[in-house]
Amino acid sequence: MSGGEKTVELPASCSECLFFRPDRENRCHRHAPGPGEHKEEVPHWPKVSPDDLCGDGALPDEETPAHIDCHACVYWHRLPSGFKPIRLQGRSPEWWAEVGLCRRWSPSPSREDMRHAVAWPVTHAGSGCGDGAAPAPETLTGALAEMSVD
Ligand code: SF4
Repeated sequence: MSGGEKTVELPASCSECLFFRPDRENRCHRHAPGPGEHKEEVPHWPKVSPDDLCGDGALPDEETPAHIDCHACVYWHRLPSGFKPIRLQGRSPEWWAEVGLCRRWSPSPSREDMRHAVAWPVTHAGSGCGDGAAPAPETLTGALAEMSVD
């Protein structure tokens, strides 16, 4: 190993991982959602077992946080005119008032010729993942930070 490389200690299980969200039904927030074909799609982060394990996890590290909230992420775009969904999809109007589009990943080539323009997934300001970057100034209010998300 060269001198500049940093060794990464992996968690022993999902329950020890920074991206594991027991408060959200054991969801794994390691990765950002990719673009889809349908507007207003709200991604579901995958459910995992606390005993599971993978090679992409990370231990909580206050010096080099690897998890970013959507509201502080450079890939997150809040629509200037707000979001007026056709269907609430089981979420409250207050939830929809605090959403934006995740543009972390470019679309990938596919075997099928896509008929529609790419649609970016909708994420809540208080959600987040391990693929975001460059924290921006804090914008969450106390009430919003306590709001149920996902
Ligand atoms: S933190 Fe950034 S990259 Fe991750 S889901 Fe939110 S907007 Fe997308």
